[in-house]
Amino acid sequence: MSIAGSGPLAPPPPGFPMPRPSARSEPFWSGCREGRLVLPLCSGCGARALRAFAVCPQCTATALAWEESAGRGTLYSWTVVWRPPHPGFVVPYAPAVVSLDEGWWFLSSVVGCASGDLREGLALQVEFHPASDELTLPYFRPVG
Ligand SMILES: [Zn+2]
Repeated sequence: MSIAGSGPLAPPPPGFPMPRPSARSEPFWSGCREGRLVLPLCSGCGARALRAFAVCPQCTATALAWEESAGRGTLYSWTVVWRPPHPGFVVPYAPAVVSLDEGWWFLSSVVGCASGDLREGLALQVEFHPASDELTLPYFRPVG
């Protein structure tokens, strides 16, 4: 574990546990590599999904569609982690629920500001950081 101290929140350096993409979620990961936030929605009812689903939790349709988000939203909820679950994370970091303008809820982390500057409704914009040769991860930064 390393401690970033009072500097701005930042993505961790390589070595932290990373997500494992599946065939179902590949459009999301491809979008991230291209610097685009491509998110799932239901072809049946249009519900904007938190993740790529096999069955829509709203209408039970199985047809998943993908749509690009502008990557803008507001901070809905967050926590500041000081005791990480893995030594590869740099503390503090701030996992967050972002309310995207198009209606998606998105789980990410806030970067680019001090943890003490986080507040409900903070305007955020997605930015992408390579985490490995294969994976690029989306983070959210406050916008002026
Ligand atoms: Zn549906």
